[in-house]
Amino acid sequence: MILPIVAYGDPVLREVAETVDANYPLLKELIQNMFDTMYNAYGVGLAAPQIGISKRLFVIDAAPFADDEAKSPEERKYLSTFKRVFINPQIVEETGELWEFNEGCLSIPDVRENVWRHPDITVTYQDENFVLKTEHFTGLAARVIQHEYDHIEGILFTDRVTGLRKQLIKNKLENIRIGKTRPEYRMRYAKLKK
Ligand code: ZN
Repeated sequence: MILPIVAYGDPVLREVAETVDANYPLLKELIQNMFDTMYNAYGVGLAAPQIGISKRLFVIDAAPFADDEAKSPEERKYLSTFKRVFINPQIVEETGELWEFNEGCLSIPDVRENVWRHPDITVTYQDENFVLKTEHFTGLAARVIQHEYDHIEGILFTDRVTGLRKQLIKNKLENIRIGKTRPEYRMRYAKLKK
């Protein structure tokens, strides 16, 4: 089931999300709904707060990045199969020289800005069956995880934009907050909520 995506300005996007326990009701359905919602909006990642649920859970499918011909065949192959469910993740290590990439967010339509992040991360998390895993990720895969991890900490990529660019996106963000945006997918605006 496709759910509306919470827009910038909703307080749920600013909360530090809560741990998910193994008895969380209808978790399988929730995960499926999150994938459906993400695919419908042509996203590569979606965190639970973005559908209004303040839980430490996000889904990723980086397959669309595999079409980028500028990348090596190895990276394209890896990204084509990089699909995961992350429950209660912890980024335990971030290393390497910061690199810049143009990010976007389904909760912040039509805003794209360069963000600096570390290229190498180690993450412990539980998968959709609550099996504990520790994995190392690099490059774009790491980038998507870092972006989604920020969501469960109440951080948005626009918080990481600095200087003049931050000033330049101010009006765009305000327009999203008050519902003056028309993405191709259904959104939920805090301002319009009863
Ligand atoms: Zn996002």
